[in-house]
Amino acid sequence: MTAAGRFAPSPSGDLHVGNLRTAILAWLFARSTGRDFLLRVEDLDRARAGAEAGQLRDLAAVGVTWDGAVVRQTDRGDVYAEAISRLAAAGLTYECFCTRREIQEAPSAPHAPQGAYPGTCRNLEPAELEFKRSTRPAAVRLRSSVPVNTVRDVLHGEFTGVVDDFVLRRNDGVAAYNLAVVVDDAAQGVDQVVRGDDLLPSAPRQAHLCSLLGVPVPEYAHVPLVVNRDGVRLAKRDGAVTLGDLALKGLSADGVRDLLGSLGLPAGTLAQALSVFDPAVLPRNPWIWQEV
Ligand code: GLU
Repeated sequence: MTAAGRFAPSPSGDLHVGNLRTAILAWLFARSTGRDFLLRVEDLDRARAGAEAGQLRDLAAVGVTWDGAVVRQTDRGDVYAEAISRLAAAGLTYECFCTRREIQEAPSAPHAPQGAYPGTCRNLEPAELEFKRSTRPAAVRLRSSVPVNTVRDVLHGEFTGVVDDFVLRRNDGVAAYNLAVVVDDAAQGVDQVVRGDDLLPSAPRQAHLCSLLGVPVPEYAHVPLVVNRDGVRLAKRDGAVTLGDLALKGLSADGVRDLLGSLGLPAGTLAQALSVFDPAVLPRNPWIWQEV
């Protein structure tokens, strides 16, 4: 299998310039290192009808090309189930019946990092387990044996983050994001993960899961997000931020790509950008989007 990078959008709506910029960077990282570039549609939740086709169209319009067929996570339930079964057989999972509210209201364990699952269902007595099973469908959590894990990131250096008992399968039976992303990257030969730095805190969990599943940990590069003038992560409500909105203002897809260039990406077509791309000089701070 050829080494690969990837872009993995959730088809919840149109991509905005921040998403497009991350996709272009992921493409540049992959192509400049001789890797394939794959596209995976992460449609396990937040899928909106028609969004996937629009996202693929907009990626192509700014010059992002990909290898092979697009993979959709909803087609891969069996593969995720197999991975969860393997972890379960190794005693590395448990059933959890907590609602979000119960988790928020539970006293956190001493020294537990903020936001970590408090462990309510980790050691249920058999009778209690049986009772809970009769009340609500269970989610499946990892029985984590480490409090934290450290990953290396091309842009952030060493990053240490929490590995709590995170969810592997949601209580609607669907694989959770952290499990699906690790299983898919491994199955697709993805050894380079470039994505927005809002996901940096997830990397230690995912890297830990890689080691439990016996698959290699990919190289990570978490790139800064694009933010609005107030420094808040760019969103659709920030005005004209999708290719569709910007076309109405007279800006072509090439024009948008050039604008992204002015935000720290090498200018010109992606082929030209590729010839001068150097991750070492990428800005480390969020990029501010000026309204068009
Ligand atoms: N599907 C995730 C998102 O759109 C990205 C996941 C990843 O790149 O690991 O935010």
